[in-house]
Amino acid sequence: MFSKWIYKIGQQFRNPSLEREYQFLKETEKWSLAQLEAHQLKQLQKMVSFAYLYSPYYKRKFDALGIQPSAIKRLQDIAKLPVLTKQDVITFNAEIHTRYPFKKQFKANTSGSSGAALNYLREEETDSFNRAVIQRGYSWFGVHPSDRNGYFWGFNFSFFQKIKTRILDTLQNRFRLFSYQKKEVKGFIHKLQKATYIQGYSSMIYETAKQINQQQLPKPKQLKLVKGTSEKIFDSYQDEVVKAFGQKMISEYGAAETGIIAFECPKGNMHITMEGVLVEEIDNEIIVTNLKLKSFPFIRYKLGDYIALDKTNKICKCGLSHQILNEVTGRVGSSIYGKKEMYPSLYLYYIFKNLAKKHHLKLNYQVVQKEKGKLEFFVVEKLSDKELQLLENEICSYFKADIDYTIAQNIKNKDFTQKKKSFISLY
Ligand SMILES: [Zn+2]
Repeated sequence: MFSKWIYKIGQQFRNPSLEREYQFLKETEKWSLAQLEAHQLKQLQKMVSFAYLYSPYYKRKFDALGIQPSAIKRLQDIAKLPVLTKQDVITFNAEIHTRYPFKKQFKANTSGSSGAALNYLREEETDSFNRAVIQRGYSWFGVHPSDRNGYFWGFNFSFFQKIKTRILDTLQNRFRLFSYQKKEVKGFIHKLQKATYIQGYSSMIYETAKQINQQQLPKPKQLKLVKGTSEKIFDSYQDEVVKAFGQKMISEYGAAETGIIAFECPKGNMHITMEGVLVEEIDNEIIVTNLKLKSFPFIRYKLGDYIALDKTNKICKCGLSHQILNEVTGRVGSSIYGKKEMYPSLYLYYIFKNLAKKHHLKLNYQVVQKEKGKLEFFVVEKLSDKELQLLENEICSYFKADIDYTIAQNIKNKDFTQKKKSFISLY
């Protein structure tokens, strides 16, 4: 109870608009698709007008194309507007920021896929809206964000960061996994007994589920929600997760720049947050407009993911009419293209992991794709005929005949084009 009380006070201080946004979102849950789209159009018109009025960048861009905000009469008219890339966000950062006196803003920063940092300001209402979207998603599972929760996030903590993080976690009624050390994992799993939900990197949730199953550790009994974020949730994860946690891992899809784009409902469909974003799918790629963020408008933003929107107007049994996102297929530039199919670059990780696990063959490698249907493998070690055969078998088991490949061995590590990168796509 105490933790909930602290949570509430923190929330009112940091996000005074949260409660109002949440109430609104609980209301729009009942809306029809037509109502949602009408609302989207209004929000889009407002956003485009605002950007034109207060952002020198959008003013310049729209003027150059001869577009007035009044040109947006239907949702489809968004196609008339220019696309915004990550590079634009970095290059024109100051110019994109709107000249408007917001009451309260937060600094936001995130790193692009290239590793370059994107920085911008985010006003309080938008931050609150995003938290409200998450809170609504939780409500579908009978969970409140302030319930006891286990958290899986990055590991890079200095001693003092660790202390600070622990204090902040306690205030938010959560605990986290700080490392994969056996003792740490065991302690974490013990704490899960009292958790209502867990969230974080899907690969870490999967690893923890595997530990529970393999070591036959006590399974958490009170979990209502297992939420994976930030990484693709592979189907292969779900068996272990269901076995350990009694339910599948659901997915929350979003980015710092866009807010939560979609949240999976209890019936297993990812519903687009139509109140906050407008999503287009162009050449399998997501183009997303943030309908809320005014201090730094992201209009037609190329987020860098491949997606598949549902185009059949599938009706979901959960009762929501919100658009459905069938799948986030992968990061642009990190997928492998076969002659016919597309594969996650994670397959390479599995190929080499299998070699290490099954045959104790640990290799340092880099794989490059320059053209469709072809991969070039570079391996530091010198391989015996038998080892070469093992590698070829693994490659074939994942890509069959859909990919031609070459293997160059005895390569010097320093000759790798980009250090530390196991896969480079130049295609
Ligand atoms: Zn649903």
